[in-house]
Amino acid sequence: MKFGTKVIHAGIEPDPTTGAVMTPIYQTSTYAQESPGKHKGYEYARTKNPTRSALEANVAALENGKKAVCFGSGLAATGAILQTLEPNDEIISTNDLYGGTYRLFTKVFGKYGIKSHFVGMSKPADIEEYINDNIKMIWVETPTNPMLNIIDIEAVCTIAKKHGIPVCVDNTFASPYLQNPIDLGADIVVHSATKYLGGHSDVVHGIVVCKEEAFADELFFLQNAAGAVPGPQDCFLILRGIKTLHLRVQRACENARKIAEFLKTHEKVANVYWPGFEDHPGHEVAKRQMRDFGGMVSFSLKYDTFEAAAMVLGNTHFFTCAESLGGVESLIGHPATMTHGSIPREQRLKVGITDSLIRLSVGVEDASDLVADLKHALDWIEV
Ligand SMILES: *Cc1c(COP(=O)(O)O)cnc(C)c1O
Repeated sequence: MKFGTKVIHAGIEPDPTTGAVMTPIYQTSTYAQESPGKHKGYEYARTKNPTRSALEANVAALENGKKAVCFGSGLAATGAILQTLEPNDEIISTNDLYGGTYRLFTKVFGKYGIKSHFVGMSKPADIEEYINDNIKMIWVETPTNPMLNIIDIEAVCTIAKKHGIPVCVDNTFASPYLQNPIDLGADIVVHSATKYLGGHSDVVHGIVVCKEEAFADELFFLQNAAGAVPGPQDCFLILRGIKTLHLRVQRACENARKIAEFLKTHEKVANVYWPGFEDHPGHEVAKRQMRDFGGMVSFSLKYDTFEAAAMVLGNTHFFTCAESLGGVESLIGHPATMTHGSIPREQRLKVGITDSLIRLSVGVEDASDLVADLKHALDWIEV
């Protein structure tokens, strides 16, 4: 099955009781048992739910994994992965990490004796010096937020394999349509399904895909034992969103390209960060490991102030100023005050998050309207 067929058909069967073509929302907490312990495979909905099972089978196929396991949010999914570790285990993680993941690693799991090393991975060989006997996981996020740096997944996995360390890739920014980390050697893939998989900014959800059945079994145990499960309606919404994943991401990529090219020539724009540019440092790797360059674009202004950025953010009409990404509608954000507001200024300047940096999640609207919207907003900056 090719990708566009998988999104519609993988793991999806007409409902066995009614023939309903669309997977029903099994809104139930429990299931009738014929006699004690004699049931149809479903006992209690924390443990198993048919809507959730259909979604798990579908996403496992999209990522070419063995099994997928659903959770109530991307961070709940990430938390479950970390719950498989033991006190004194250590993680090597990319330093350019989603803020919520950083907080979970340091403030929550740090307390239970799991130590994280945050390392730049633009040169994968740099990981070697952090490897010791306690390292039990390598955590990769690519493209990164908001600078859209690219990490070579295959190169990281080659190093990890030499030492027998599993690699987990947060594939939220790329989506399975653009990038399949398991094919590149990764063991675990995690998605905030809130973003591209759901695709309509109407649900919070997380999914882990496992290359090996044994790790999936550990996560199924934690899904039931720790209980961070999604509701059936949320699973339905993700299943519904996935049916158009390939169409949405393809259009978002096309729009992002037009917007990046427009911004690059604009007199008020200083830098444009988009891996599709040949002079982007990760361009060659992105070309190799992704099918296109994604729907995210960041840019900074020549007039590098909060005020200038605020002029742009306050004057777009189709780009809504909001957190999150990956929906059909275009969003605009200011990392220095929004997603990365808790990082000290000196530290964020070092990684390129300047006062005027603006991040776009490009949606599937008509590209000419989006370009005109940004053009109009940029006109408001007085230099
Ligand atoms: C949003 C996001 C998360 C967290 O997911 P939630 O569904 O919000 O819990 C993790 N990683 C990345 C890259 C994200 O963008």
